[in-house]
Amino acid sequence: MHKSADVVEILKAKGIRVSLQKLEIAKHILGIKRHFSAEEIFKEVNADFPRVSRATVFNVLNLFAEHGLLNTLRARSDVLLYDSNIDEHDHVVDAKSGAIYDVMLPEKERESFLKAIWAKNPHIPRNVAASVVVHV
Ligand SMILES: [Zn+2]
Repeated sequence: MHKSADVVEILKAKGIRVSLQKLEIAKHILGIKRHFSAEEIFKEVNADFPRVSRATVFNVLNLFAEHGLLNTLRARSDVLLYDSNIDEHDHVVDAKSGAIYDVMLPEKERESFLKAIWAKNPHIPRNVAASVVVHV
C-alpha cells in the first residue's frame, strides 16, 4: 500500500482533484502492479474505511483509467478488470486458478506464441485490443 503523500502527488500530477475517498482507493492500487475488479477494491477499501459506496469505487476507478493511471482488461469471463501496470504488456491467464500474469513478449515471438495458443484454443478472440489475453 502507498503512503498518502505519494498518492496525492500522483493524483495532482494528473490534474485529478484529491478527495479522501479517492485517496483511500488510490492507496490500494496505484504504484502496485496488480489486476483487480471494482468489487475487490470495494471490499478492500471498506475493510478499513467503511464509507465508500460501490458507485464511488466504480466512478473513481473509471476516472483513474481515463487519466491513464489504470488500464482495463477482460480476462475472467465477463468481469471487467483493472490493471495498475500501465506499461505495455501482455497477459497469460492460468485457466485453472484464474491467476493473471504479466508477460513481455517480443514482437516476433509474440506472433508465433499466439499462433500456437490459438491453434490449441480457437475460442480466444484474435483482436483483443491493448493487451492480449492468453489462457494456458
Ligand atoms: Zn497486466
